[in-house]
Amino acid sequence: MSFELGEEHQEVRQAARQFAEKELAPRATEIDLAGEFPWENVEKLKKYGYLGMNLPEEFGGGGMDKISHAIVVEEISRVCAATAVILAVHNVLFGETINRFAQGAVREEVLRQAASGERLGAFALTEPEAGSDAGAVATTAVREGDEYVISGRKTFITNAEVAHWYIVCATMDRSKGTRGISAFLVERNQPGVSFGKPEDKMGIRASRTGDVVLEGVRVHHSRRLGEEGEGFRIAMAALDQGRVGIAAQAVGIAQAALEASVSYARQRVQFGKPIAELQAIQWMIAEMATDIEAARLLTYRAAALAGMPGRHSAAIAMAKLFASSVAMRHTVKAVQIHGGYGYMREYKVERFMRDAKITEIYEGTSEVMKLIIAQSLLRGQ
Ligand SMILES: Cc1cc2nc3c(=O)[nH]c(=O)nc-3n(C[C@H](O)[C@H](O)[C@H](O)COP(=O)(O)OP(=O)(O)OC[C@H]3O[C@@H](n4cnc5c(N)ncnc54)[C@H](O)[C@@H]3O)c2cc1C
Repeated sequence: MSFELGEEHQEVRQAARQFAEKELAPRATEIDLAGEFPWENVEKLKKYGYLGMNLPEEFGGGGMDKISHAIVVEEISRVCAATAVILAVHNVLFGETINRFAQGAVREEVLRQAASGERLGAFALTEPEAGSDAGAVATTAVREGDEYVISGRKTFITNAEVAHWYIVCATMDRSKGTRGISAFLVERNQPGVSFGKPEDKMGIRASRTGDVVLEGVRVHHSRRLGEEGEGFRIAMAALDQGRVGIAAQAVGIAQAALEASVSYARQRVQFGKPIAELQAIQWMIAEMATDIEAARLLTYRAAALAGMPGRHSAAIAMAKLFASSVAMRHTVKAVQIHGGYGYMREYKVERFMRDAKITEIYEGTSEVMKLIIAQSLLRGQ
């Protein structure tokens, strides 16, 4: 058991940090304020091989392990959390799910496009009436010969409209509950696919979030993921993997808040000395640093487990629950350390605070993470 990153992972961090600071930092604030989808960042992620970095090499991916992926998401989030979620959803919720559950030639074609970053992917589970209760999806899929006809509305979908491919969960039989749900692959330009207007969000504003509307969309059976009725299981397996990325995103945001706080405390003078000399400030910084280190360790452990066979839902939920809470609490502290300046758009800590909140909500809220952890313990797993 080692608590230090090996040489290879340290190199991954160094490269990702350089990439984020050189390529993403200059416009991170601007795209946040404008709520502008950063196509130029997508191009850069593609050019540097981060899109598809975790997908198999035989399809053109980077073949990198889960800890490397978590490190990259963490480092990108430290600079631009919006860009990190574009990447994480494409690579994990979409790419890894295609790798595991798509079939034959469709799997190969779509994986190649995802691994090269040529075409972005999205994952569409949530609906207006099916959020935490994801098994309540009302989007329907009706089999007609070789095809399924899909109708319904997906809401709050990351990469909506900017993605080419969508994994869509739909029910074939509501009386069967979660066992009636199947998962399909839908293309942006198919007849019957349209999009709602992009959501105007509190944080991660440069990422795209919106509705995906499906009206009689015809999908060939070769574009079904897994078997009929396996859609919910596939979605839950995808979310287990995805949550490692959200934990890493939270660690990255919290780390950025800590660094900004240390730097500000050193230079801000009140009562004739830097505020860094005040114990009240030192205690906040010490608590931030300790919690972030703990969140990072839980996240890397979750990443290591996510790369092993079997389900590791509870350990991954613990990492997401803890890291997102650390990010939220400590970005608020970072604003406090900055005083009135922290409340101004000019200082990045207010962006970090807005960005942190989403990590407690998407890919399962903190309350849902607690349910997963408690159920696992109570079932004796
Ligand atoms: C920016 C953003 C991006 C997103 N991206 C995607 C995406 O790409 N794909 C996708 O499918 N979805 C996506 N989502 C949806 C997201 O996963 C859901 O918003 C989230 O799971 C919560 O669902 P809800 O919003 O319907 O809240 P609700 O489920 O209505 O929850 C409301 C409150 O009730 C609590 N609650 C609900 N049930 C329970 C319970 N059983 N026990 C205790 N408390 C409970 C919740 O924790 C929460 O506090 C995104 C959301 C946002 C905001």
